[in-house]
Amino acid sequence: MNLHEYQAKEIFSRFGIPVPSGAVARTPSEASRVAKRLGGAAWVVKAQIHAGGRGKAGGVELCRSPDGVGEVAGRLIGHRLRTHQTGPDGLPVQAVWVEQASDIGRELYLSLVVDRARECLSFIASSEGGMEIETVASTHPERIVTVPLLPDPGVPAYVARVLGRGLRMEAPQATAFSSLLAALEQCMRATDASLIEINPLIVTRGGELLALDAKVNLDDNALARHADLAALDDASQRDPAENEAARAGLNYVALDGEIACMVNGAGLAMATMDLIQLKGGRPANFLDVGGDATAERVTEAFRIFRTNPRVRSVFVNIFGGIVRCDLIADGIIAAFKEVAPRVPVIVQLEGTRAEEGRRMFAESRLPIEAVSGLALAAERAVRAAGEAA
Ligand code: ADP
Ligand code: MG
Repeated sequence: MNLHEYQAKEIFSRFGIPVPSGAVARTPSEASRVAKRLGGAAWVVKAQIHAGGRGKAGGVELCRSPDGVGEVAGRLIGHRLRTHQTGPDGLPVQAVWVEQASDIGRELYLSLVVDRARECLSFIASSEGGMEIETVASTHPERIVTVPLLPDPGVPAYVARVLGRGLRMEAPQATAFSSLLAALEQCMRATDASLIEINPLIVTRGGELLALDAKVNLDDNALARHADLAALDDASQRDPAENEAARAGLNYVALDGEIACMVNGAGLAMATMDLIQLKGGRPANFLDVGGDATAERVTEAFRIFRTNPRVRSVFVNIFGGIVRCDLIADGIIAAFKEVAPRVPVIVQLEGTRAEEGRRMFAESRLPIEAVSGLALAAERAVRAAGEAA
């Protein structure tokens, strides 16, 4: 689960990670009131969406008067913001975070991640933080320092020294920097986060350390023990089809291709998407209907495919290991009667009672094309999508 910057900064404050003074606002007048209350001479208004790259997309603006803050908030709130991290449609801005402008000396990058390869938590840092970090990662990977942590809680002094050297921290910041690392590690463990990223972490001209941006990803599997964090979920930031799928208990990820896929098993779903790609098509989604695909879930999947205007064909790939192919066929035929798809449907059944399933399709006289052989079926789904376009 992703959090908004304002939610992440509130959590940072609780753990003692320094952030600029600020507050969230949901209307332009509230935004200018926040600026007046914060005081100072300059403020930054930041669109709250579940994506980065806002700075380059007009989602982070410096203002020199409370009225200016209200104007920028008015331009952002109620509109969609598109950045290089959002899809082409952007994400809806329902709130802005207004904070005091900082006098930036240097912009650094610091994150703490669940490092799957090393099976531990790792700090990742770079002295070249800010909006160009992706470029640094690809052109100068040696400028990025990674320091793995031992399984024991806490941040040993050597970790702070290695990171401090990598970030060219100076003596006056040493203590504040070690405390910040310790607070970050505590925050990571206490919230069961999978990623905490501060980009930029700044050193102000006055020598202060501040987290200017805050990105927190929480481990969905741990949300059961964090009711307070689970309540911070903002469904408006997800694809509506994904929300609908989650309600129906489907494991669905929206993609931008034209071939809708319905597969049982995550691994087979990945292989199916690869095969579609190999045959020259593009999957419209990842969908694992699970080992116990019921007629209701199959119908729900067809309903979601129908709402996607990009879909040109549907490819159903079922391996009947635990699930019986004739039951799946029954589900598909029932789904067809409820939500007749507008596009060709290609089905490949293999395994338990596949023969019966294929016969049921033939007898149903519905426009369902049963193709034997995975490669052939994928090819057919790609061709059908091309013909329907
Ligand atoms: P994003 O990562 O989505 O682009 P950031 O929060 O990192 O958004 O902001 C982008 C840039 O805007 C930062 O790299 C920084 O240069 C500037 N910025 C952000 N907040 C402030 C602030 N409070 N004071 C001054 N500059 C800021
Ligand atoms: Mg940032």
